[in-house]
This record gives sequence, structure tokens and C-alpha cells, in this order.
Amino acid sequence: MTDLDRVLATVDADLDGALERLFAFLRIPSISTDRAYAADCRRAGQWLVDDLAGLGLTATLNDTPGHPVVTGISQLGTGKRVLFYGHYDVQPVDPLELWENPPFEPKIIEGPNGVKRIVARGSSDDKGQVMTFVEACRAYLKVTGTLPVDVTIMVEGEEENGSGNLPPFLEAHREELAADIALVCDTSMWNATTPAITVSLRGLMHDEIVVTCANRDLHSGYYGGAAANPLHVLSTIIGAVHGPDGRITIPGFYDGVVEPPDEVKAQWNALGLTPEVFLGPIGLSQPIGERGRSLVEMTTSRPTFEVNGMWGGYIGEGSKTVIPSIATAKISCRLVAGQNPVHVRDAVRAFVRSLIPADCTVEFRGGEGSPAVAVSHDNPNLAKASAALGDEWGKPAVTVGAGGSIPIVGHFKKTLDQDTLLIGFALDDDRIHSPNEKYDLASFHKGIRSWVRVLAALAA
Ligand SMILES: [Zn+2]
Repeated sequence: MTDLDRVLATVDADLDGALERLFAFLRIPSISTDRAYAADCRRAGQWLVDDLAGLGLTATLNDTPGHPVVTGISQLGTGKRVLFYGHYDVQPVDPLELWENPPFEPKIIEGPNGVKRIVARGSSDDKGQVMTFVEACRAYLKVTGTLPVDVTIMVEGEEENGSGNLPPFLEAHREELAADIALVCDTSMWNATTPAITVSLRGLMHDEIVVTCANRDLHSGYYGGAAANPLHVLSTIIGAVHGPDGRITIPGFYDGVVEPPDEVKAQWNALGLTPEVFLGPIGLSQPIGERGRSLVEMTTSRPTFEVNGMWGGYIGEGSKTVIPSIATAKISCRLVAGQNPVHVRDAVRAFVRSLIPADCTVEFRGGEGSPAVAVSHDNPNLAKASAALGDEWGKPAVTVGAGGSIPIVGHFKKTLDQDTLLIGFALDDDRIHSPNEKYDLASFHKGIRSWVRVLAALAA
């Protein structure tokens, strides 16, 4: 029997103990947004500090201007170190009357199809996920007296409240938090049987376009037919942004965009995400993205241009025969790996200016942005983690991107110069942030086993 087998067997044998510990953690109502629960947040942090100290880690409750940050650091001299991130705070529970069981009295309840689930606020987001990693370390330490790689566990208490104190904390503890790679456990699997590693998050650039034509609002009977209308000008420009093939026509917009390798695209195609499944629930059926691209590509690996709001002229009740002098649009672009937000902003502005007719002017207000964050598809840690998850779940982990942003990942890159692998065992139906939040018992149990394998694989 290998060490790995013995550690996995210990995880199985100690599942009840692991559940008891998780339940104790879940019983603490650490709601970070409500000041009335500040002492409970601290208590949850302290509970975790005590648990990590019990494992032999150097565990600290680090004060911040808000709720404290927990750190637990091993010093085993393994030659490699991972930084693990999670959060111990939870969302508020209201409306309380919709909970079938009190939110801070965790229970195992049989769901549909006899699937056992842990029901409590924080069971999935994120205490249950945090404890999958802690329990993996516990089993390893118990069986072998050591860990395959050193760990720095950092668990914050303000994730549900904007993580405002985390960036300065990272700045101040840069050396202490140094690691070869960061692991974040706050995401979902692709589905109940397919593990996923999130390796990219799209960036964002937003701007406001203000077009002015005449020097005041005009009577359309008197000036109509002669005077330029800024709403027409703006809609003509917006209408020119996308070609009939769904591609964005702005020169330079796609500069630097990185194409994922063919095998990753093949993996995405194999997921078989259809318009019926993805768009059906929102009442749509036709993807409008670039022709020839899959839905996964459209929403994660390709950049976008969206109008978020557009206004001008008269929008009150009844009619008013006005030709407005000003029209405005708020736009935003989701960015992907390789794109520079400033370059994209300048390309968008140059495109808009090129279509502004004589007599009209344009002004821009905004233009802020942040780049996408992505781990290279040939990062060796990615291959190792993916193989380890495949061993546990019986099928390879899919490498996915997230269409939105998870700010912590950008901070890890910017402040700590660390790449991040987001590996989580939550499911889309976990009802995080909603009443009756749950975490499948299988997510917890196989999540612990998965981390055991990932830790072993990362050491190799
Ligand atoms: Zn979370």
C-alpha cells in the first residue's frame, strides 16, 4: 500500500470526524456584512486558527480594520509551497422563513434521488470547501507526519463583503505568503461527475460615449430634416461595432488575443453545451457571438463589446417632438488573455471618432479597465492537478474559463506574482447565497480525497 492509498483510506475512515468538525464551523453565524455578527466572525476565525494549530501549523488570527484573516503555515522543508485561499464568512440568511431547517443548525438531509446533502448556510460557500483542503492536510499529517508540499492556508472573513481589506493584507504579508502556486477553492465542478479547473477570468474595460450635435435641443418641425440627431449618430456607430458574422469590427480590437490550444477546444466541444441548455432558461435560443465559435468560447475565451445603457432626448410619457442635442451610451468590453485594456479603450475611441460626422463632437468619460487573468495552458501544475482530479473522479478535469471576474485572482497575480488554479467541488444547484444552501456529501468526501491526490501530484 502506498502512502497515497493509506491517506485516502484514512479520509474514508474519518469522514464522521470530518463532518463533526465541519458542523462545529457551520454553527458559527459568521455573517460578514452585518455588524451585529462581528463577534461571531471573529469566533469563526478563531475556531479555524485553533483547528490549524492542532495540525501543527503556525496559525494566526491576523487583525485587519475589518474581520480578521486566518493564516496557517507549515514549515516542513518540502521544497515546494502552495497558497490555499478560501473564506470563513457567509451571506446573510434572510428570508429566514424559506429555510426548511435553521441555517446555522447543519444537518444531513436526503435530497432527490437519495443524494445526501449537508444543509446549512456556508455549507458550500465556502466553509465546506475550505474544510475539504484542511481535512486533506489532516489525513496526510496523521498518516505520514508530513505533507507532500508545504502549505500556506489563508482564509479571509470579508469575501461576501467585497474583500476590501485583503489587498493591503497581501501587500503587507508578501514574503509570508510567497508560494509556487495559489489554489482557490470557491468554485464549482462542471457537473456532479465532471471536475473542473478554472484557469482564466475575463478582464473588463468600461467607457461612456457622449455625442453632441446642436448646441441645444431643437424643435423637430422647424429643424427636422436639416439638423443632425446625436441619437442617430450614436446608434449608427453602435450598429457598426458587430459584423454580420458576429465579429467585432473595431480595428485592433482583437490584437494579442490568445487562441486556446486545439485539445482544450476539443474538450469544450465534448461538453456539448447547447443553446437549449444555456439560453433556454433565459428565454433565448440563438447565440449571437462569432460564427463558428462554441458557446464556451463565446462566454469565456472571446472578448465582447456590450452597450449597458443608452439614452438621450425625451423618454417621458406621451410624445415630445424634440431633436436632442446630446446622446450617451455606457459600454463595456469583457477582455481575454493577451488583450491590453488601454489598447482596447484607445481602439474603441478611435473607431467611434472615425464615425462622428462633421458638426458633431464626441467626448469619453471613463475608460477604466483591468486585464484578464489566465494561467498558461502549458503550466505543469495545471497538468498535474488535472490528472490527480481525473484519478479521483474517473474522468479528466475540464479546463474552463470564467466569463466574469474573481478579484482575488488578479491580486494574487499582481501583488504576489502567483498563478492561480481555481478548483472547487460545489455544484450549480447548491443554492449559495439563497435559503437552504447545501453541499453534497459526495462533494465534501470526494473533495477531501481530491485534494489529497492534488497535493501528492503537485509534489511530483
Ligand atoms: Zn464564496
